[in-house]
Amino acid sequence: MLHARDSLAAGLDALDRAGRARSRRVVEQHLGPVRSVVAGRECTTFCGNDYLGLADHPEVVGALREAAVEWGVGSGASHLVSGHTREHHALEEELADFVGRPRALLFSTGYMANLALGSVLAGRVACEDRLNHASLLDAGLASGARLVRYAHADVGALRARLQRQRDPSRPALVLTDGVFSMDGDVAPLRGLAEACREHGADLVVDDAHGFGVLGPGGAGSVAEAGLGVDDVPALMCTLGKAAGTFGAFVAGSALLVESLLQRARTYIYTTALPPALAAATRASLRVMRREDWRREKVLALAARFRVGATGLGLRMLPSRTPIQPVVFGSEAAAVAASAALLDRGHWVPAIRPPTVPAGSSRLRFTFSAAHDERDVDRLLDDLAAAVHP
Ligand SMILES: *Cc1c(COP(=O)(O)O)cnc(C)c1O
Repeated sequence: MLHARDSLAAGLDALDRAGRARSRRVVEQHLGPVRSVVAGRECTTFCGNDYLGLADHPEVVGALREAAVEWGVGSGASHLVSGHTREHHALEEELADFVGRPRALLFSTGYMANLALGSVLAGRVACEDRLNHASLLDAGLASGARLVRYAHADVGALRARLQRQRDPSRPALVLTDGVFSMDGDVAPLRGLAEACREHGADLVVDDAHGFGVLGPGGAGSVAEAGLGVDDVPALMCTLGKAAGTFGAFVAGSALLVESLLQRARTYIYTTALPPALAAATRASLRVMRREDWRREKVLALAARFRVGATGLGLRMLPSRTPIQPVVFGSEAAAVAASAALLDRGHWVPAIRPPTVPAGSSRLRFTFSAAHDERDVDRLLDDLAAAVHP
C-alpha cells in the first residue's frame, strides 16, 4: 500500500491542469544518427545533442564492442573499489589533455559531476545565472550556500551580487553554463572570469554543449574565450552530447580533482561507468581530434537554419551554436508547431515552462554534423508552411 497515494495523485492532477504534464515518445527504430521512427513514421531528428554525429560512428561503436568482449559489460564496482580500469584511467588523461587542464575525473553523469562540484566547493554564497541548467542549480543547493541568481549573462548584475557578499574568509562560488542549453547563447566568460578575479570568487563552467563544438580543436567555450585553469578553476563537460557516448568529467587542478575523488559522494558511492564506454569515448576523442570538418559543418548548418528562419520572420535568440530555438511564446502555439512539423517528418518537441520561463515556449532545434543542407532546407520549407499556413 502506497501511503502517499493521495498526494502523488494530487500532484499529477495539478501538472495536468497546468498543461505541464510531460510524456515520452518511444523511438521505435534507429535509422541513423539523425533518423528514427517515432509515432509510426520516419523522421529527421532535430532535438538530439549528438552534435558531431559520433553516436553511431563505426570506430566508436567498434571500440565499444571490442572493449565489451575484453572487459565485460559492467565495471562491477565504484572507482575507489575495483571499478577503475586502465580504460578509465587512460580516458581521464586524454580528457585532461583535450581541454588543456592538469587533471580530469570521470563521472557517470553530468548531473552527478555538478553535484560533486557543489558539495566540495561549498562557499558563503552561490551565484547562478538565471538560465543555468537544473543540475547547476542543484549543485548550488548541494553546496549548502545561500543561492542567489543574477540576470542572464549579465556581468554587471553578477558584480553587484558579489559586491554585497564580500567575505574574504569564504570565497563565493559563481556557476554558469558555457553554452546555455535552452537558448544556445554563449556565456560572457571573459567578463565573468574578470568579475570573479576581482571579488575572489571561484568560477564553475558547465560546458555540456560547448565541449567538442566550440574552441580550438573542440576544447570548448572556455578555451575559445582564451581562459585557463586559473580563470576557470572548475570545468565540467558531458560526454553524452558532442562526444556521442555517455558520462561526464570535471577538469581542473590536481587539488580540485583529488578533493572530488576523496570527498564527493556522487563520485564515491556509485558504480564506475562500464569500461567499454570509456573505450568508446577514447575512440570518439580520436575522431574529434582528426575530423575538424564535423565542427565546421554543424556550425554552418545551424547558421543556414538561422538565416532561413529569420527570413520567415520567426523570433530567434542570439545563438551561434548548434542550438537554435524559435520562440513562439504561448505553450499552445509551440505545441501546435511541433505537431505540424512531426506530421511532415521533422521531430522537434515543444519546450515549455518550467524548463523555460513562462511566455517563452519554444521549439528548440538542434543540429548535427550528420544532417545535410537538404535536411535544413526541407525543415525550413515545412516550418514556413506550419507557421504561415
Ligand atoms: C545535459 C546537461 C547536463 C547533464 O549531463 P548528463 O550527463 O546528461 O547528466 C548538465 N548540464 C547541462 C548544461 C546539460 O545540458
